[in-house]
Amino acid sequence: MNIKKSGEIFERSQKSIPGGVNSPVRAFKSVDRQYPIFIETAKGSRLYDVDGNEYTDCIGSWGPMLLGHNNERVLEAVKKSLDEGTSFGLPTEKEVELAELIKECYPSIDKVRLTTSGTEAAMAAVRLARAYTQKNKIIKFEGCYHGHSDSLMVKAGSGLLTFGHQDSNGITEGVMKDTITLPFGNSEKLIEILDSEEEAACIILEPVPANMGLIIPEEGFLKLLREKCTEKNIVLIFDEVISGFRVSLGGAQELFNITPDLTVLGKIIGGGFPVGAFGGKKEIMDMVAPVGNVYHAGTLSGNPVSVSAGLETINILKENREIYNTLEKRTKELVLRIEELIEKYNIKATVNHIGSLYTIFFSDKKVENLEDAMATDDKAYNTYFSSMLEDGIIVPPSKYEAHFISWAHNNEDFEKLIAGVEKSFIAIN
Ligand code: PLP
Repeated sequence: MNIKKSGEIFERSQKSIPGGVNSPVRAFKSVDRQYPIFIETAKGSRLYDVDGNEYTDCIGSWGPMLLGHNNERVLEAVKKSLDEGTSFGLPTEKEVELAELIKECYPSIDKVRLTTSGTEAAMAAVRLARAYTQKNKIIKFEGCYHGHSDSLMVKAGSGLLTFGHQDSNGITEGVMKDTITLPFGNSEKLIEILDSEEEAACIILEPVPANMGLIIPEEGFLKLLREKCTEKNIVLIFDEVISGFRVSLGGAQELFNITPDLTVLGKIIGGGFPVGAFGGKKEIMDMVAPVGNVYHAGTLSGNPVSVSAGLETINILKENREIYNTLEKRTKELVLRIEELIEKYNIKATVNHIGSLYTIFFSDKKVENLEDAMATDDKAYNTYFSSMLEDGIIVPPSKYEAHFISWAHNNEDFEKLIAGVEKSFIAIN
């Protein structure tokens, strides 16, 4: 595959952008590649790079593109919105419509505030929990990623894990001390901490963790979290930036029937444009300025173009709820075929799967938490990624991310994927 022009642009970009990219995972560095590919256009399930190569896309912009790239209806809504004006700094009726639609799909949300990113939304939710409980500490889980605000960058997943650090430099010891981390899914450790800790304002988690590779939660663990938070006056925050509108219309909270106090959303609710949201119980949300004194603001919060794309995306999903069952079925079939190949080639690998998400972990042990994920084979993952890329398939360039299947993936994509996986397994052997 010729990716010469990508290499030339990367040479240039390193001179003006740190690492040549605007988000670390895009550098492909974790998979020993000299340079990433630069994308020119996208349509449906496909990406096209600057050298004219076509790829089947299994990362979907890391989550937003559930309907595939450039969905006609979403595109029309965006074009109309562009004609109306791109940013006003004053409220629009569309924002109200999006808030109402989110509330309809998430009964745990009485009120919701839009932001420009998931990072901001998670940061604001934590601040709100502190104000509401008048307590300082937060509890999070090792390998869960909630964006890059200071207090949430402790034992975090995603790019931090990929590059071998779980914490970022530049965060004060005081902030780090106020974040307690626990292994995901470990009920005993959770109970032990909660029995001795009186200062916890919130527990924040990805109910379906997807930033240490995909981890499938035990329903009992999520239930225990709900019970303990109620008992101890701790705000339960579900970060559904990935799982929201992805694992079902009502997110993981609908799928597992657990009601959090606050929910963080992003990605799909912006239909491919910058967005985030935090929402929940009225009594908590009414502490946000200008009603209360928990400050949150944003020049581009509720941007009309993002809101139009999000509204149209959610409306499509709401009108076609069968999308979720079909996507689950298609992804499950794909995963079953991958599992057959694992057996055929005697590969030490296991697949975690839910809805349209999956991760192949190169290990013969089931992966249930960060420790398990870290112990999986980096070299095998590297070979898998490189072989898939060579075959025109973009899979996550890190074992700590999930594969994202979209509504636009067709039989041709699935056959191409299976053939690619088989070839990569032969290379691993
Ligand atoms: N929360 C989760 C679960 C995420 O996966 C991400 C980003 O990938 C974020 C929060 C941060 O969102 P953003 O990248 O929009 O700031």
